[in-house]
Amino acid sequence: MTVYIFLVDDVLIDTGPFSMRNEVVNIVKELPINRVIHTHHHEDHTGNSSWIERNLHIPQLIHPLGVEHCKKSTRLPLYRAVFWNNRGAFHPTPFENRFISTDNYSFEIVHTPGHAEDHIVLIDEEKGICFSGDLYLFHSPTSNFSFESVPELIRSLDKTLKYSFEDIYCSHRGYLKNGKKLLERKRDYLLQLQQNVTHAFEQGKTSKEIRKELLPKNKLFQYISFFENSPNHTVNSILKELPKEYSSEV
Ligand SMILES: [Zn+2]
Repeated sequence: MTVYIFLVDDVLIDTGPFSMRNEVVNIVKELPINRVIHTHHHEDHTGNSSWIERNLHIPQLIHPLGVEHCKKSTRLPLYRAVFWNNRGAFHPTPFENRFISTDNYSFEIVHTPGHAEDHIVLIDEEKGICFSGDLYLFHSPTSNFSFESVPELIRSLDKTLKYSFEDIYCSHRGYLKNGKKLLERKRDYLLQLQQNVTHAFEQGKTSKEIRKELLPKNKLFQYISFFENSPNHTVNSILKELPKEYSSEV
């Protein structure tokens, strides 16, 4: 899987996975970087932040909910360690302000949990762009990680879509012209999925039956991740948010 990091004037957005350390170190040594902003704490976005802390002594910012995660070295499940490597601890500063400006850009920091509790996107409405971190990735995901929540993702997509922009910079897909349409497509897909899951549940189906019917399990990645990434999490995250009268059955 490709990982993108972005430089906006003197701001570096994310530091990539530790497995890309040689490339990232060369980039940060050569370019005039004065600040780092992290879209969230996951290891493929913060893998070189501890090197930057030890060698560059520049401010590194993250949403307040991400600070504690970063203070510990990661102990990843094997499949994630193989992809990205574990990363060392570092000590980012929590955002104090909703806005961040560079010479040419003026971003609003928008909290968008669902993929990670500390996930943010950066939007410059005047320039019409959004650095979307991992909010987009694919327009119709059929499985999720145990730490993700579909209803939360829907709310974060809705919140983001209220802003005015056209293009997005996705951490794993790069520059996507008219990416706002892709975010809409993802929101619509997840809303439909949420409705289908709710409807099936109202008909008395169990979470397992719903998963089999709506999201048949056959993806290699789900096996590689030992089902840390699985459609079960997709279905259960939706069922968890159903009104109280259902909750005893979930
Ligand atoms: Zn992530």
